Amino acid sequence: MSKVLLISTGGTITMVRSKTSGALIPADIETFEAFMPELFAGNIHVDIQAFSPLLDSSDVNPECWERMARMVYDHYEDYDGFVILHGTDTMSYSASALSFMLENLSKPVVFTGSQLPVGVLRSDAKENLLTAIEIAAAQDEEGNAIVPEVTIYFEDRLFRANRTTKRNAEHFSAFNSYNYPALAKAGVHITYQPHLIHYTPLESPLVLHTHFDCNVAVLKLFPGIQQPVVRALLRTRGLKGVVLETFGAGNAPTDKWLYRELKSAVDKGIVIVNKTQCNTGSVEMGLYAVSLNLMKAGVISGYDITTEALLTKMMLLFGENPDDTELVRTLLGKDICGEVTVD
Ligand code: ASP
Repeated sequence: MSKVLLISTGGTITMVRSKTSGALIPADIETFEAFMPELFAGNIHVDIQAFSPLLDSSDVNPECWERMARMVYDHYEDYDGFVILHGTDTMSYSASALSFMLENLSKPVVFTGSQLPVGVLRSDAKENLLTAIEIAAAQDEEGNAIVPEVTIYFEDRLFRANRTTKRNAEHFSAFNSYNYPALAKAGVHITYQPHLIHYTPLESPLVLHTHFDCNVAVLKLFPGIQQPVVRALLRTRGLKGVVLETFGAGNAPTDKWLYRELKSAVDKGIVIVNKTQCNTGSVEMGLYAVSLNLMKAGVISGYDITTEALLTKMMLLFGENPDDTELVRTLLGKDICGEVTVD
C-alpha cells in the first residue's frame, strides 16, 4: 500500500464560518477530518500532520515554509509522497519556496486547497484533495514517482509549482501556469506528461535549504511614477534585491533619473531583476530601445519567471549565500529547478 503524508497548514479548505463575525476562519484538524472520511477509505494509506493553529495563508511566512519543508524532509523516507493543504492566496509563494528548498527532490510534494470550505455542499475540496493524494502516490512500474516535483494540483490541472500564479478569486480553476504547460490533466483518467516533468537522478540525496533573507522588494513601474518613490525604495536600509516589474518585453521609461537611481543601487550591490508585468511571455532586454537603459544600469533579465518564484528564489539565495552577491546574481540568471526559461 502506498503511503502519503498529508500536511495541513490551513486555508479555506479547512475553514468554517465564525459565529461572531461571520467571516471564514480556519477550524481545527479534527473538524476537517470529520468532513473527509474518504481520506481513510481508499487504497492509499494517509497520515496527517497539521499546523496548530491552522492558518489563513495570508499569515504564512518564511518560518512556515521552513516548517513545511522540514516536515517533508524529516519524513522523507517514510512516505511515497506528500500533499500540503494550503490556502490559495499565497500558495504559489509557498510552493515556489519549497521547490527551491528541497534540492534533489525525487518524491512528489503536491500543494492543494479549495475555493469553498470542505463543509460546503458544492465544495471543490474533496475532488482536489483526493486527486492530489492519488498524484502524490503515483509510481511507474519500477516504483519511482511519476511526478517527483513540487507541484500545485487544482480543479483538473497539475502544474509545476514555481510556474504558478493565483489568477482567480472566484472560479474553481484558481491557478494558472502561463509560461509552462500542465504536467498532468485529470479527467476520468489522470494523464501525465512525462516529457515535461523534471527527474532528478535518484542517487542524489535530498538537501534541505532553510535560510531566507527578506530584505527584498517589488517595484512595480507605472506611467508617471515619481523619483522620490523609486529613490525611497532603492535606498531602503539593508535592501539586497529588487524585483523590477516592467512593461511588456521588459521596458521602462527612459527618464534619466530612473537610470541614475537604478545604476546607483546596482553599484551599491543591490541585485535588480527585470520581471515583466505581463503574465505570459518573456523579458527581452535590448529588443526595444526603452530597455537599453536598464541593461546599462546593470539590471539583469528575469526572462519568463513569475514574481512569486523570483521573490522566493531571491530570498533563499540571499539567505543561503549571505556573503556572495556575485553568486546570487549569477544564479538569478539561471534555471535552478525548472522555474525559468533562459535563452
Ligand atoms: N484566504 C484563504 C487562504 O488563502 C483563501 C483560500 O484558501 O482560498 O487561506
